[in-house]
Amino acid sequence: MEYLAPFKEGIDLIREAGGDAFKLCWQCSLCSASCPWNTVRTFMPHKMICQSRYGLVDLEDEDWWLCSTCNMCVSRCPRGVAITDIIRAARKIMLEFQYERAPASLRNAMGSLSSEGNPWGSERSKRAVWAENLGIQPYSSDQHEVLYFPCCVPAYDPKLGSVARATATLLRSTGASFGILGEKESCCGESVRKAGHESLFESLRKSNLAAFKEKEIKEIIVTSPHCLTTFKQEYPGLDGETKVIHLTQYLADLVEKGKLPLNKSLHKRIVYHDPCYLGRHNGIYEEPRRVLGSVPGVTLMDEVECRENSLCCGGGGGRIWMETVKGQRFSDILVEQAVEMGADILVTACPYCLLNFKDSVVTSDKGNVLEVKDISEVVLAAMGEE
Ligand code: SF4
Ligand code: SF4
Repeated sequence: MEYLAPFKEGIDLIREAGGDAFKLCWQCSLCSASCPWNTVRTFMPHKMICQSRYGLVDLEDEDWWLCSTCNMCVSRCPRGVAITDIIRAARKIMLEFQYERAPASLRNAMGSLSSEGNPWGSERSKRAVWAENLGIQPYSSDQHEVLYFPCCVPAYDPKLGSVARATATLLRSTGASFGILGEKESCCGESVRKAGHESLFESLRKSNLAAFKEKEIKEIIVTSPHCLTTFKQEYPGLDGETKVIHLTQYLADLVEKGKLPLNKSLHKRIVYHDPCYLGRHNGIYEEPRRVLGSVPGVTLMDEVECRENSLCCGGGGGRIWMETVKGQRFSDILVEQAVEMGADILVTACPYCLLNFKDSVVTSDKGNVLEVKDISEVVLAAMGEE
């Protein structure tokens, strides 16, 4: 084992990196008991908090990279310890002292974010390829009221391009006056911040803030709950001047006003998955249910653990760019449960969940019995515009 510094300097480094929440900890271990990793392996956040309290960060301990920042432990901690801030601080120190020991796939994603503003390394000029032939305009404050910000995953991953296209189509069909940033858009930076790369996050934030300012953006609709959280909580000043909402909030508002034309019956059994960053991080539980519940012919079901207790898909905290071994994937468990419940479609509202679920459906050979869809795709189908 190689420890960072078994003395005061180690404690100072964790404090400076934003992790001094450890001083509140009682070591009751409720966080470890709440953590979903302990359903598939052993993972003890309370022990790591104890280590950090004494300035001890084992630079070789790969467990620091496991946390998906699902917020389950934070929501249950009796002392209000910002556990994920401590983990982020430790990761920051690990990246600073031993960058080469970070998971290789994460380092690749960070390199691509640094050069092209997206985790795949695809050219920045291709960021709006998903929108080709849809007639979507670049945002202009003279013509548009809303910016649609699709997130890197729907913008670049061919498996999720349909999500960005469905969202843009239904925004137009419901009368939203919107444009996109195209190649001026960068990743919101959420995953690299949670992975501890503060300087890279800062450069992505600056790039997006400059684009928002130049275009005089007043309202943003996002597909990803991770973008939502980052813009609202980690882009200081933005939320005061610019309204940021998730697509489910926009759709739920239309449902309430009777302005969402859902006139095609789908005859499907749907299980809805609460993404951690929409639910536990933002308290958005009712809106997606209100939307899906208003689709004709849908039988809407909750997961075995839902709302505040929803099981993480495993993709937050930068883990979407890291390998998870077979047998330890939370998304496999959730897909299995949806199949056992007799669902036709597993629906969610987060690109990371969608990526993980689609992967689990393929690897568990359930593609013939279960579809995985974003809420935008279901709504579009119910509008008869699929
Ligand atoms: S639940 Fe909170 S108080 Fe208890 S060990 Fe975890 S961080 Fe400490
Ligand atoms: S945020 Fe989630 S994954 Fe991370 S330690 Fe807490 S419960 Fe475990």
